[in-house]
Formats: sequence, C-alpha cells, structure tokens
Amino acid sequence: MSLETKEDTWSDFLSFMENRCSRAEYENWIAPIEYVGNSDPITLQVPNVFVQEYLLDNYKEALTSFFPKDKKGEPLISFLIKEGEKKKALKKPTPKPKKTSEFDQNLSFNISYTFDNFIEGPSNQFIKSAALGVASRPGKSYNPLFIHGGVGLGKTHLLHGIGQYIQSHHKKLRLQCITTEAFINDLVSHLRNKSVDKMKRYFRGLDILLVDDIQFLQNRLNFEEEFCNMFEALINQNKQIVITSDKPPGQLKLSERMIARMEWGLVAHMGTPDLETRVAILQYKSEAVGLHLPNQLAFYIAEHIYNNVRQLEGAINRLSAYCRLMHLEPSQDVVDSTLSEMFQAPVRSKISVDRIIHSVASMFNVRESDLRGSSRAKEVAYPRQIAMYLAKELLGESLMKIASAFGGKTHSTLLHAWKKIAQQLETDDVLRRQLQMTRQNIEA
Ligand code: ADP
Ligand code: MG
Repeated sequence: MSLETKEDTWSDFLSFMENRCSRAEYENWIAPIEYVGNSDPITLQVPNVFVQEYLLDNYKEALTSFFPKDKKGEPLISFLIKEGEKKKALKKPTPKPKKTSEFDQNLSFNISYTFDNFIEGPSNQFIKSAALGVASRPGKSYNPLFIHGGVGLGKTHLLHGIGQYIQSHHKKLRLQCITTEAFINDLVSHLRNKSVDKMKRYFRGLDILLVDDIQFLQNRLNFEEEFCNMFEALINQNKQIVITSDKPPGQLKLSERMIARMEWGLVAHMGTPDLETRVAILQYKSEAVGLHLPNQLAFYIAEHIYNNVRQLEGAINRLSAYCRLMHLEPSQDVVDSTLSEMFQAPVRSKISVDRIIHSVASMFNVRESDLRGSSRAKEVAYPRQIAMYLAKELLGESLMKIASAFGGKTHSTLLHAWKKIAQQLETDDVLRRQLQMTRQNIEA
C-alpha cells in the first residue's frame, strides 16, 4: 500500500464513521484521532488511551474492514498517545470562565423515587432499612452499601431515595448521584480537556457518592482503576458510598481489588417482591393515577406479573389509560383484553412446595417428613430453612399459603427462615452452590 492510499483509506474510514455514529459520538471519540503519516502499519495518534480503547472496543470490525489485520484478526494499527500538550497548556493559563462549575449540584433525582413512595415487603424491607440507616447517618453505618438485584426491582428508586433524604436532612453535605455511564463520560471529557485533576478534586471532596449500575464498569480497565482510586480516597475519609448493580460484587468482571472494596461494607440483595407486596404496589400505583382497582383484580394481575415492578407500573398505566378513554371501570374482561400480552407464562406452576421439599430432602439426605415436621435438630432444621427459602423465591404464592404447606408453619417462621438463608447467601459460597444445584433439580 502506498502512503497516499493509506491516508485515503483513513479519510474513507472517517467518512464511513461520520455516517455511522451520532454527531456527539463522532466529535467526542473519532474527530480527536489524528492520522500520523509515513508508517507501516498505520499509526494513529490519540489524545489518551481511553480513545484508543473506545475505538478498539466498539469499532474493531469497521477497522479491520478498512485496514489490514493480524493473524488473530486484530486491526494492524499502532497507536501513539499524544503527549506534551499538558506542558503547553500550563504555560499560558487561560482565565477561568465565570460560570459555576459544571459539577455544582446538578442532581437530577426522580422526585417520585422517595422512601415514602417505596412499598415495603419481605423482599426489600431489610435493604430499605439499610438505605434509611445510610441516609440518616451517612458514613457512619454501612459503608459502602452495595445493593444488587434484577431489573426493575427498585434499586435506582432506593438510590434516589437516599439522595433526596440526604438533600433535605443534611443540607450541608456535598452529594453526587451519578450513573456509571455518566461517570465514564465525564472522565473522558475531562481527559480530553486535560482537566482530570479538577474532576478528581471534585469527586474526592464529596461527602456522599451514589453510583448507579456499576456493572457498566466491567471491561473498562482504565476507568475501573480511576474509579477504584476515587473510591478508596473517599472511603478512607469515611465518606459514604452507595452502589447499585445487577449482580453481587463477586460476579462482576472487575478486578479483585475493586470487588474486595465493594464487599467491605454491606452487600444487600433486592429480591423479587412476593404476591402480597406486588398487590400492595399495584394498589399504591393505581391510587396514584386515580384508578379504582378492586382487590381481587389486583391479585389477579399480581399473579401474572411477578418479577418486575416496572412492569407492574406499566400495567397500571395501560389499564388506567384504557379505562379513561373507554369510560370503563376495570373488570376481569378489561384486564384480560388490555394486559394479557404482558402476562408472564405461568412457568412456575409446575413447581410446588412438594416438589421443593422432595428435591431438598434428597439433596441434604433427610426425610421429606422431617422437613414438614418440627424437629429443631440442626440436620433437619437447616435444610428445612433452605426449602422454605426456595419456596418463597420460586413460588409466586402468598407466604401464608407456602408456610402452611410446610406442615402448618406460620408466616413468620417462613420469613425468619428466608431472612436467615438470604443473609447467609451473601457470604457463603458453598450454600450458594448447593442452592443452585437444588434449584436446577427442582426446575428440571
Ligand atoms: P432498577 O433500578 O432496580 O432497575 P427502578 O428503581 O428503576 O429499578 O424501579 C423500576 C420502577 O419500579 C420505578 O418506577 C420504581 O419507582 C418502581 N418500584 C420499584 N420497586 C418499588 C417499590 N418497592 N415500591 C414502589 N415502587 C417501586
Ligand atoms: Mg436502575
């Protein structure tokens, strides 16, 4: 390839990217890359390693279709990190613009995500009280507080709840609530503007940092290191950190150092709400939109939408819009015709308390009758608690109904068992594996 064609290829690549990316993306990531002539393989100069990573992470395929690739299929490009700019910039300090810092409390909380609007049930009671504890005494209870759980279960809601509580009860504390993506974007733009120190100073001067969706830090090595440094700086000064994630720390693809830091404080799991809580959420949300939802319909909807609170909300919004437009009151028929496509298949129907007891009994080598009985001997009491935990997790039924299927136990015995196992699960890998195997057996 002659030099000229290489340069041409680079400009072809640029026009291709211009069409392919959004304007902001192009300006942020692609435009700052400079082609450096006269080299083989082609050399690109990037303002920092993040731009290089971004390009390789996101546009490897495009790169290899324009430029040669090596045996492993990686684009044959050598990258040069631009240096020396810092010194130049330092020579002539530009006067600071008078605008307030971009960081100045541009907190955008969702005003409906407050503690008061958060419906409690056994799946989230513990986590809510931990969140309240942190909000009342930032830096003095659990630090960091790590909240993990599936999509649409209220993690962001609680995070904003903590933020808004602190905002109104501890007005002097410096607080920031940020999504991991926004953190990365901020870092990138400060790197580009050579103002990373300013950003570091800002974050390290906070009293409380709330970070949403830490899973987006996975596979972003350089950002992870920066985040981890900031995290340590804050924690070492007893500043409060709260993190949410879709997985527990140990399952995130992050460095051991980062995982260990996140496990320092309290790791709490946000479970899926049980039937009663789902009903309470439906009633609360329908009241908020002025929809009169009879109890029995709330139960009916809650039985069919069971693993995502956001969907419960969506169901109420849809139902309420339909009823308003058609001048109807909600009824079984109206619910069926508006919501049936949102209903989840009753996959759990084949699972029953009997089946769970059967699997747990064979897994732990005890008799099924022991699990239904009331012996407190450890060899049977522990598997019984595990069976109760699984029943509550796997069956969308009312706690009372489940408890009575265990030889007439009470609702509070079941809850106690569930809590104990849920807590132990946070730290006990052996139990986690045993549960996984039992679950597979039950669901098989
Ligand atoms: P996540 O961050 O876990 O994906 P969100 O916090 O965004 O979930 O919650 C999804 C929606 O469900 C939000 O509108 C939130 O207000 C609502 N929600 C979740 N849990 C509850 C709850 N316990 N009580 C009231 N609303 C809830
Ligand atoms: Mg969220």
